[in-house]
Amino acid sequence: MKVDCHSHSKYSHDGRADPLKMMAAAREKGFGYYAVTEHLDRDYKYCKKERFLKQLNLPRYYRRAEKLRQIDCEETFFAFGVEAAYSAKASEWYEKTLKKYDFDVVINSIHTINGGDAYFGKFYRGREQDEVYNEYLDLLSESLKVPYDYDVVGHIGYITRYCDYPDVSLVQPQYADKIDALLKEIIARDKCVEINTHIKHPLTEFLPERGILERYYELGGRKITFSSDAHVPEDVGHKYGLAARVATEIGFTEWTVYKRHIPESVPITSGDE
Ligand SMILES: [Zn+2]
Ligand SMILES: [Zn+2]
Repeated sequence: MKVDCHSHSKYSHDGRADPLKMMAAAREKGFGYYAVTEHLDRDYKYCKKERFLKQLNLPRYYRRAEKLRQIDCEETFFAFGVEAAYSAKASEWYEKTLKKYDFDVVINSIHTINGGDAYFGKFYRGREQDEVYNEYLDLLSESLKVPYDYDVVGHIGYITRYCDYPDVSLVQPQYADKIDALLKEIIARDKCVEINTHIKHPLTEFLPERGILERYYELGGRKITFSSDAHVPEDVGHKYGLAARVATEIGFTEWTVYKRHIPESVPITSGDE
């Protein structure tokens, strides 16, 4: 089955389309499972600049999601959730808030480090790669241990997609121990790793890098899913075929999808690259 576990509609500050348009695109492209996962960026509240960005109106989005869930579509299961961007300061709020909503899937990801979004180049300026990468890996490790429920670990390696170091790879000996510890933690907690294809870096086509996915498999990790992280209907399922091929080459045979947080395994099918 073709699945897409991560996308944004107009309820996210950087999304544009109505969820119905995104859902129609998923159905047309033959996805059997498709999730809308709006940005829940409580971490932004603790940032200098990003704190002015519009926050998700969670009650309003949830009301809409509840309505959209009633659409009976034979070809596609439509799931709804959020991408909860981690920061230590936001953790308590997430813990209190997320339990009030019966979502299908919650993605736990990292966008901001030390009060700034790693999306912006200035985050890396004048800083050594090892310092930035170690800071990110430590924060990622912290984020796995949050007290609230989440299902999927979002775009592992986020920092590598916006920086311009000569070798952006996280698959280097100096990071191997930390990455192993992270992957073991994900496996021990029975969480899912997404292959995210919303990448703007010329050298990377998806996250996490293949070397990290291979190591995850080697260590016994089997919960994996596909995420286009689309923000417009045209991008729904973007590079699905590539992710499915890479996952299969590594040895994965099933995608994991979530319905009301309950994992379900479906066979990985190939698709257009
Ligand atoms: Zn994200
Ligand atoms: Zn996203």
